[in-house]
Amino acid sequence: MLSNNAAPKVMSDSRPLTGGCVCKSVRYVCTGEPQRVTICHCLWCQRRTGSAFGTEVVFAEENVSLSGIEPAKYRHVSDESGRWLDTYFCPRCGSNLGFTLQAVPGIRTVPAGTLDEPGLLNPKQMKFRHVFTRSRRTWCDLTSEVEAYERHFRA
Ligand SMILES: [Zn+2]
Ligand SMILES: [Zn+2]
Repeated sequence: MLSNNAAPKVMSDSRPLTGGCVCKSVRYVCTGEPQRVTICHCLWCQRRTGSAFGTEVVFAEENVSLSGIEPAKYRHVSDESGRWLDTYFCPRCGSNLGFTLQAVPGIRTVPAGTLDEPGLLNPKQMKFRHVFTRSRRTWCDLTSEVEAYERHFRA
């Protein structure tokens, strides 16, 4: 047995994270390690994902390379802050493909569920946070492995 296969490494840079939409029209490759993973329980993320939370794997924008057809984009402008947030999705199958936002320039997210191997994201090996847990669905349990904030860690 090869010794270098003995233990999983921390998001080895020899193995970029890849993913894409359900219909495979949009694909992406992420180089380098994610800066963090943010699981957002805000009502807006619940609505835009149609789920209980958004799962954002945060990368430097230049580290995410898209291929295939051009994702569709929807610009949401916050009533509160007046700042924009661009969400991306496949124009064919509608899969969520993450966002970029005015508040944090230079980053791009990909949703954890669109990764080819979501199991590569390990809360023990990178910064994982739950935010806006004040609007968490009561039927959605949180793991104690991950930090949790009632609002946002920047708030
Ligand atoms: Zn698609
Ligand atoms: Zn949110």
